[in-house]
Amino acid sequence: MELSSIKLAILDIDGVVIKGRTPIPGATKGIRLLEENNVKVIYLTNNSTRPRKRIVGLLKEIGINVSVYDVFTSSYLTALYLDKEANKNDRIFIIGEEGIVYELEEMGFQNLFWSNYEPPIDYVIVGMDKNFNFQKLTYAQHAILSGAKFIATNTDPTFPTENGLIPGGGSIVKAVEIASKKQPIIIGKPEIVGLRLILNKFKISDLENVIFIGDRIETDLIAGKRLGCKTGIVLSGVTTKDELEKLENSLKPDFYGENLLDLLGGKNYGDRI
Ligand SMILES: [Mg+2]
Repeated sequence: MELSSIKLAILDIDGVVIKGRTPIPGATKGIRLLEENNVKVIYLTNNSTRPRKRIVGLLKEIGINVSVYDVFTSSYLTALYLDKEANKNDRIFIIGEEGIVYELEEMGFQNLFWSNYEPPIDYVIVGMDKNFNFQKLTYAQHAILSGAKFIATNTDPTFPTENGLIPGGGSIVKAVEIASKKQPIIIGKPEIVGLRLILNKFKISDLENVIFIGDRIETDLIAGKRLGCKTGIVLSGVTTKDELEKLENSLKPDFYGENLLDLLGGKNYGDRI
């Protein structure tokens, strides 16, 4: 791949850089190659549960030094979205974990509720919550039916753990959607609300200079295509080469590789398949 035309590389984390807590071969060398070529590297995950500083620590453990300003989670992007759209004293009900509460607090929002509330509520934010229950669902339903705006951090149906799949934030979002008969505004991939906020932050308008590299077709690749930037898929996560070959041509990524280093050093998709 010709790296001189790329200014910004957006890397998905799980399946591209790490798997669980294990570094993926070729990832750190790939990141170094990008940086040596003066490509700004940032990290993006739909996982809403962790504060960004925790992800910085996780990456540091495997030898990747990154500033908290270069890590974007669906929770932080939700906070950035609300920073533009909401007032700091708006009342916000959260179905979610530490990541969402922390990022909203950091952004200056003061009226946050996550177990109960007194009406009115201006925003209901829904993400992954391992303590989700009927009562929280009822609170969210009542708030939305009373006019609160409904925001989903992400809609991943499942969530990978070391012991296999568990329900993801999307399963909880669906429950709220059905109970409230309202569609949420979705911040994370494959929607591009969050990606646009990132491009604004780095003042990048020419999408030709941007590549989005991930391991999932239905989130990473679709988001990149919708945004209109260059796209790359690594086979070090969930997608197989077979699945890439079956995609119709307009959906195929611009680049792919066994891992990040392979993708960056390899030829483009059309040459290799
Ligand atoms: Mg991934």
